[in-house]
Amino acid sequence: MTYNTVYPDDLQCPFCNEKVTSGVGFRFGCLENKNYKPGEKINWEGAVHRPETRPKGGNIKSVGYFNCDNVKCKSWSDCFPDVQQALITVKNDVIEKVEVYKGPLSGEQFEIIEPVQGGKQKARSPKK
Ligand SMILES: [Zn+2]
Repeated sequence: MTYNTVYPDDLQCPFCNEKVTSGVGFRFGCLENKNYKPGEKINWEGAVHRPETRPKGGNIKSVGYFNCDNVKCKSWSDCFPDVQQALITVKNDVIEKVEVYKGPLSGEQFEIIEPVQGGKQKARSPKK
């Protein structure tokens, strides 16, 4: 699966407070295995991209995944770290913030939180 990775300077594992150095994988913009730093502009042009068109204003919030790099952390078990969620906030095409995210989650992989995706969400809203 093709994705991009962002390397924030200030993302800490919520279990041990160690800095996360291995980056946060995400799937939006052009999917090209590109490495980003916060403050850099997302590339929306390319053969494979998500969503299909650049969101209005270049604003998007989406879930990405990381793991703690500290093998003594309790998020590690059986020699493998748990996958944890981060929320990546992009404003005007620029990666503004990467923070630990605790949900809510729909279960969709690499969920796009904003803008709200059309169709599905509307159908789910309760009837009055
Ligand atoms: Zn940790």
